[in-house]
Amino acid sequence: MTAQLNPRGDVAVLVPAAGAGVRLGPGAPKALRLLAGEPLLVHAVRRIAAAPSVHTIVVAAPATEVEAVRAMLAPVAPVTVVPGGAERQASVAAALAAVPAGPEIVLVHDAARALTPPHLVESVAAAVRDGHDAVIPVLPVVDTIKEVDATERVLGTVDRSALRAVQTPQGFRRSVLVAAHRSAGDALTDDAGLVEKQGIAVTCVPGSELALKITRPFDLALAEHLLTTGA
Ligand code: C5P
Repeated sequence: MTAQLNPRGDVAVLVPAAGAGVRLGPGAPKALRLLAGEPLLVHAVRRIAAAPSVHTIVVAAPATEVEAVRAMLAPVAPVTVVPGGAERQASVAAALAAVPAGPEIVLVHDAARALTPPHLVESVAAAVRDGHDAVIPVLPVVDTIKEVDATERVLGTVDRSALRAVQTPQGFRRSVLVAAHRSAGDALTDDAGLVEKQGIAVTCVPGSELALKITRPFDLALAEHLLTTGA
């Protein structure tokens, strides 16, 4: 059954899903790899669509897969699918350009974080609604972190209490994200980085272990296990 999005919702979610996924090994584009028999992108979109504030979902698909992705997602939720770009940032920009008038909160969410729970979508959106221009979900860093040189010689130990591992969805006031992408220079790995460069404050909210990024074969195995335990 296709989920209904909320016509009174104030949130658009952009899902960049055009990456190759080289680190997962050879195979289909990462977002289309199977997790418990369904593509990662299907898992991700199903959870986004279950968040009550979501009005619009725009997916940036690999350019050669746009029609296939449209057909794949039609039974899951009403989504707009656009061709992505060569870099993640270009894929996000393409999806952002397709957001209709209405939603004033825009979230950017990697398809690779396929098990992200709907409540994380809501808590990021709520923080933007409360007046924060840019919001990121984070987790504390558990490993000791060393800085090294090109020969792998240790230069020093970083104070991990001041570090955070950053997840998605990242949330923005729409005008802030549009301005950040308009003046974007170098490609960055996240959208909050673009906003930081504009001198705009970025606020952290608690992330979720379930929002892990499925990047390597180990992550896929972990995600399969989490699904069997009800994620
Ligand atoms: O490569 P990385 O793991 O950082 O990709 C994060 C997300 O960005 C993935 O969901 C991937 O599909 C997406 N992406 C994209 N367009 C690209 C590269 C990555 O939409 N050109």
